[in-house]
Amino acid sequence: MDHIFQAVLDGVPAEDLAAAPLPESYRAAFVRRDEASLFEGIESAEKDPRKSLHVGEVDVPELAPDEAYIAVMASAINFNTVWTSIFEPLPTFGFLDRLGKESRWGARHALDYHVVGSDASGVVLRTGSAVRNWKVGDKVTVHCNFVDDQDPSAHDDSMLAANQRIWGFESNFGGLADLALVKANQLMPKPPHLSWEEAAVNALCNSTAYRMLVSPNGASVRQGDRVLVWGATGGLGSFAVQYVLNGGGTPIGVVSSPAKAAILNDLGVEAVIDRRAADYRFWKDEFHQDESEWRRLGKDIRALVGDDPDIVFEHPGRSTMGASVFVAKRGGTVVTCAATSGYMIEYDNRHLWMKLKTIKGSHFANYREAWDANQLVCEGKILPPISAVYRLEEVGEAAYQVHRNLHEGKIAVLCLAPAEGLGVDDPELRARVGEDRINLFRRHGA
Ligand code: NAP
Repeated sequence: MDHIFQAVLDGVPAEDLAAAPLPESYRAAFVRRDEASLFEGIESAEKDPRKSLHVGEVDVPELAPDEAYIAVMASAINFNTVWTSIFEPLPTFGFLDRLGKESRWGARHALDYHVVGSDASGVVLRTGSAVRNWKVGDKVTVHCNFVDDQDPSAHDDSMLAANQRIWGFESNFGGLADLALVKANQLMPKPPHLSWEEAAVNALCNSTAYRMLVSPNGASVRQGDRVLVWGATGGLGSFAVQYVLNGGGTPIGVVSSPAKAAILNDLGVEAVIDRRAADYRFWKDEFHQDESEWRRLGKDIRALVGDDPDIVFEHPGRSTMGASVFVAKRGGTVVTCAATSGYMIEYDNRHLWMKLKTIKGSHFANYREAWDANQLVCEGKILPPISAVYRLEEVGEAAYQVHRNLHEGKIAVLCLAPAEGLGVDDPELRARVGEDRINLFRRHGA
């Protein structure tokens, strides 16, 4: 263990941390450029992150004036790390090379290895000379919106910036490592009542769900709205149902097992559909969908909540989008941020225009949205849906679990944190929120 990392673990005063020398290299999870064709000719589902994600020492990059080094205590698996590790839809080295051409600082990212990971909790180790709001020793979480704030298009809504990127996916030096390089405008306060691993699993999926449902940039859920949430115990869905409940709406959660249905019931979601038990067959074959199956889903939703959904929270993509557009209420909104099962989408446009529905695209969140979503975690109003914890050496297995849909909620990864349960600074708030509720997903997994 390097001296400065040990100092973080020992909780030394910020002055001592600032005086401790930085290491020249650090432990990180990465994919390699020379392995980008590792899975050529293999079916998507068979591509195995355990073969492509490596853990080893990499060099510490130079620090730009607007950046910070973070000692990463814990990180999380997001689906983008799955995409990177199976080199789909494209190897991420193309993103790094493009960033590399933008500036001297961008050039640091274009390497033959890509350090992955788009979530982190940890401690600020160093700040660049232009950083004003953060200092060495601050306990933080990191959101993944990586923007150039000197680009005019990055203002108003930074998600509309021409060169907006996702940190640790479209940039290098991500969070699945002992050290991470981040822009200062990615930093947010660590929720004081949560452990390192509980704090690390929220920023990406929580902020995305917040923008999709709560923000005026998304579907702006209102009291009384019925909201169909696909994958309702998955990374995004487990935050989505909490936002609908908090906002006075009625979530209809779709899951694929009785165990997942039980998690939803425990979270307070009464209307649950087990898609596997219902055995919906939206696609008759590779090219044709079956409207009667969309209709059957619509009937099931009405039977549960009395009406069609005002909002559909979409991300499975090709397998569900036709059904989502069909079941949305007249005038309703389908808000989508992904296409896990395929991005060439097909739906019946007559149902969209005749019933005045809207399909709204959404992607991560701007700093303000991420900050507001983080604040709700800090106040205990949004729970961390953490279901399992792995060590950094086991990152391939953790990504495999997510790739094969074997997980619930979020999987955390311990980086510098030597054990689970460390880092809680506000036990009173923790007690008020409730150990049982914070551990809800883990309890069900146990
Ligand atoms: P996740 O943790 O794997 O959860 C996804 C859930 O979707 C699964 O739990 C599964 O639930 C359900 N699902 C999977 N395939 C399905 C299918 N064919 N039909 C119906 N349901 C299906 O992943 P996540 O973190 O929620 O991310 C989901 C997608 O969103 C990924 O593609 C990810 O890359 C993307 N994403 C995009 C953004 C963005 O900013 N644009 C942000 C976060 C994530 P059941 O099996 O229980 O139904």
